[in-house]
Amino acid sequence: MGSLPRDPHCIFCKIHAGEIPSTVVNRADGLLAIEDINPRADVHLLVIPEEHIETFRDIAHLSEPEAKRMLDFVAESAKQAGLEEYRLMIFCGAGAGQTVPHLHWHILGGRFHGIPG
Ligand code: AMP
Ligand code: ZN
Repeated sequence: MGSLPRDPHCIFCKIHAGEIPSTVVNRADGLLAIEDINPRADVHLLVIPEEHIETFRDIAHLSEPEAKRMLDFVAESAKQAGLEEYRLMIFCGAGAGQTVPHLHWHILGGRFHGIPG
């Protein structure tokens, strides 16, 4: 992955570049799963593709194999975290609660503390 330029101001681009520390729980080429810094469930992971895609609306930027690999990575990361039952969430756009404009999946397992706003 990685045909779009990284955004120098983007937190998740910086995490991918190793410029902001994070707790990485799974890693593959162009994909990271990290612990959310402000967990809203007993287990709260974020799956972040390296490519700076602002929202799910722009998912067509990923090729079919890249999109499939991302989905497999989400499932693999949940399994590796010991989760069999969990919620997946994507907030698409600021009005829907997205605070970091770089595509990411929330994996939420165990007790759920609710969604913001
Ligand atoms: P969203 O509201 O879908 O854009 O979610 C952004 C998520 O990123 C929130 O759950 C934040 O707690 C999380 N977050 C923001 N900065 C960091 C960071 N440096 N490391 C890990 N998670 C972060
Ligand atoms: Zn980014």
